[in-house]
Amino acid sequence: MDNFITGVYANLAPVEGKSGFTFQEADVTRELTVPGRFDAVANLASPASPRDYMAHPVETLEVGSVGTRNLLEIARRDQARFLLTSTSECYGDPLVHPQVETYWGNVNPVGPRSCYDESKRFAEAITMAYHRTHGVRTNIARIFNTYGPRMKLDDGRVVPQFIDQALRGEPLTIYGDGSQTRSFCYVRDLVDGLYRLMRSEERYPVNLGNPVELTILEFGQRIQELAGSKAGIVFHDLPQDDPKRRKPDISKAKAVLGWEPVVPLEEGLRETIAYFASTPAGPR
Ligand code: UDP
Repeated sequence: MDNFITGVYANLAPVEGKSGFTFQEADVTRELTVPGRFDAVANLASPASPRDYMAHPVETLEVGSVGTRNLLEIARRDQARFLLTSTSECYGDPLVHPQVETYWGNVNPVGPRSCYDESKRFAEAITMAYHRTHGVRTNIARIFNTYGPRMKLDDGRVVPQFIDQALRGEPLTIYGDGSQTRSFCYVRDLVDGLYRLMRSEERYPVNLGNPVELTILEFGQRIQELAGSKAGIVFHDLPQDDPKRRKPDISKAKAVLGWEPVVPLEEGLRETIAYFASTPAGPR
């Protein structure tokens, strides 16, 4: 199910027409008519790029609140498993490093990112409430920066932005001085973590991400090397409330799920660069 507020239909091409797959264009914040009985409900609905959620702040708040509740109701009705994909943004601009699940976070509740952060924090709270009140078999993943083929070329996130700039031979746009850090997980690793989490009995949030931490400056240089660009960099203002450091502590995922990322950054970036090189205008 997708309402395509930020998604792209062409990304479904590999599974379209396969047995066992059906697609419904719908908005989970509206009344849902879903025929059949479900074993599992995976809630991945939400804009996730800062540019996208800041362009759609009300829709972002609605999908985490009303949308999550509507999907929890389906799980409750069918006694299905329920997966919530939450976010490292629950930690805001964190004062604890690396971030552990027991840290409650440092979120500006009225800043430009609050529509996403508070939406996901509400989504976690209502997921726990459905578990405690109705016994729904819930799981909560806190996903850290994830990347890979089929990201939207113009969604503003650092991976498609830097790769696009490197492939065009344009300078990279670094926000701030580039000393802020992120830790990037390849999508294949992440999907494996989500699948394992859905089969587990862990009800409290579990961090899923790659603990290899880089400054944005180092990350940009790595992309330029792999894409063969020597176009340099230009510095822009750092956006308000941009988290300064982010790195997941994945001890819990290792212990509870037996999971850790296995795809090295260079391999993941090569696959992602190859995708964007072969799809220069992005998926339509
Ligand atoms: N960033 C940057 N240049 C860009 C896009 C992003 O320097 O063209 C920085 C951004 O300020 C942030 C980091 O890269 O510090 C990751 O940004 P992104 O939007 O991918 O996701 P975030 O982790 O902030 O949610």
